[in-house]
Amino acid sequence: MGPADLAMTVSTDELQRLNDVPEGALMTEALTSLKGRIAIVSSFGAESALLLAMAAEIDPDVPVLFLETGRHFPETLAYRDRLTAHLGLRDVRSIAPAPAELAARDPQDQLSDFDPDACCALRKVEPLDAVLPPFDAWISGRKRSQAATRTSLPFLEPQGDDRLKINPLAGWNAREIDEEMTRRDLPRHPLTALGYKSIGCAPCTRPVAEGEDPRAGRWSGATKTECGIHKPAATAG
Ligand code: SF4
Repeated sequence: MGPADLAMTVSTDELQRLNDVPEGALMTEALTSLKGRIAIVSSFGAESALLLAMAAEIDPDVPVLFLETGRHFPETLAYRDRLTAHLGLRDVRSIAPAPAELAARDPQDQLSDFDPDACCALRKVEPLDAVLPPFDAWISGRKRSQAATRTSLPFLEPQGDDRLKINPLAGWNAREIDEEMTRRDLPRHPLTALGYKSIGCAPCTRPVAEGEDPRAGRWSGATKTECGIHKPAATAG
């Protein structure tokens, strides 16, 4: 089965073109051919600057969706603002949960302690689902090298909601990203200097030791490895 066999809001021809371009041209093809119908979802984390820098070069007006869970490190919020200004991104949107939902389901900001799946649903999954309808496709910065659970990550991931998710950096490893960020003189998330290689919400993130899986510090000690916004790719029925 090829990606063109799936029913998508992105047309078969568009999907085929994305499938045919070389890896290095995928971002440009996606942002130009789907302009107005595509967004980027970014955590403004340890490696986010590279994807955002590439996007800003192609289209600084592309919508960038940041899930403002209310539980981020203050350093992440400051980095979001610094990087946005540095790159000249003109449409960064901070997407927050509805205040009434927060008050009803996590009034004391404790849900992450005893039910992180419910907390991620409230603070990430549902807010993203609420803002995705205008878009036919979205870009994520995930890479195969980030975790054992991501080693088979495809570049194009048709979703069950008929949207297309695109992972232009799927093939990059940590060293390549680090070198390219240095070459481009991109600002670093301040917590990377303290051993944080993957940065999510403060209650659910710890630094990792040398040699540890970069995402080992996310929901450390729990079986949870993903927040829930990255659902498995759809398959043709
Ligand atoms: S990462 Fe932690 S604090 Fe953030 S939404 Fe998920 S469970 Fe809640």
